[in-house]
Amino acid sequence: MQSLTVLGATGSIGVSTLDVVARHPDRYRIFALSGKTQLERLAAQCAQFSAQYAVVDDAASATRLQGLIAEHGARTEVLHGADQLAAIAEAPEVDAVMAAIVGAAGLRPTLAAARAGKRVLLANKEALVMSGALFMAAVEAGGATLLPIDSEHNAVFQALPPTYRRDPAAAGVRRILLTASGGPFRDRHVDTLAGISPDEACAHPNWVMGRKISVDSATMMNKGLEVIEAHWLFGVPPEQIDVVVHRQSVIHSMVEYADGSVLAQLGNPDMRTPIAHALAFPDRINAGVSPLDLCAVGRLDFEKPDPRRFPCLPLAYAALRAGRGVPAVMNAANEVAVDAFLSGRLAYLAIARVVESVMARLASAGDGSIEELESVDAEARALACEWVASAEAA
Ligand code: NAD
Ligand code: MG
Repeated sequence: MQSLTVLGATGSIGVSTLDVVARHPDRYRIFALSGKTQLERLAAQCAQFSAQYAVVDDAASATRLQGLIAEHGARTEVLHGADQLAAIAEAPEVDAVMAAIVGAAGLRPTLAAARAGKRVLLANKEALVMSGALFMAAVEAGGATLLPIDSEHNAVFQALPPTYRRDPAAAGVRRILLTASGGPFRDRHVDTLAGISPDEACAHPNWVMGRKISVDSATMMNKGLEVIEAHWLFGVPPEQIDVVVHRQSVIHSMVEYADGSVLAQLGNPDMRTPIAHALAFPDRINAGVSPLDLCAVGRLDFEKPDPRRFPCLPLAYAALRAGRGVPAVMNAANEVAVDAFLSGRLAYLAIARVVESVMARLASAGDGSIEELESVDAEARALACEWVASAEAA
């Protein structure tokens, strides 16, 4: 029996995680759940899974949630604030932590889980992008088991030999090939991208996801974040990580080896597959995902990503090559820009421009400690906010 904390339980990944957990009451029990909004959903989840603790952002939400939980007749204890979020991730009663908070807000509790040596199921790619070196050092020092939830990285993990972490050189990996669906605008003429609305950007053809990652998929910043994520997870340099547009989202990524072999992981685009894989690893369990019908899929297409359509992808490679605190700068600027776009304050095409200009301003950002990264993050956010405000005023 594994005891589980789900950070970001009310989100798209959180809900899919609890769907898999509910299918296996003999294997998993919920220790704690967290959420920032959607308190009714969180209360229902606490009741359904008899969670011991729930953590929300502030005191007012905590009072409201405690009331909702009481209406369900459940006994979950409600806590609030950043320290309590870290506490439910590192508690001795916890075996595994699903890190599914979106954005830099997930960094502290995910790091706490790594330091405490938990099985860390990592969906929150922004945490790794922000603090790759420190995060991987924390995993090592804490003796944590890091399992990727991002479908591409989960696919790569599955296509690598079990001995990879012990002896990466012997594995003979030549290239990691991350697949990208191309998002909702892959077939739209680039000259028509200017007036894109938030709802259009969030209408992903293959996946149903949270709004931030949906916009990142449209701009391909998501793939850029994933290139950086792959670098840290698998210790592979940027020139050995390639992106290929594969519109069917059936091949979730591939590993090319020195002998010419290319290994891929395939499946329906449903996050419950990587979630179930990481929950049960090295066992396999039912995820509730329908079997892949290759004849219905019919064909698998591949093409090169067009940098004019997806300018965020080259920006992410540049951030990875620049190293140190630059990926954190890029991530923070992107979070601000996407938020501004989603709330109608920034044009779609300006997202890449905000990121590029903030990266240029903070090109020598450091990454010596978590505190330094948090101040880099704050500085990048402030510059991005200024950029958005001046665009609004213009
Ligand atoms: P979502 O927006 O649906 O859910 C985010 C969760 O985080 C919610 O529970 C929300 O309450 C919580 N949250 C948001 N801001 C918070 C804050 N400041 N403090 C504490 N909690 C906060 O997002 P999602 O689509 O589930 O994505 C979660 C993470 O997983 C992201 O990092 C995303 O990149 C990654 N991911 C998602 C998918 C997917 O299919 N949805 C696939 C791969 C990776
Ligand atoms: Mg992904």
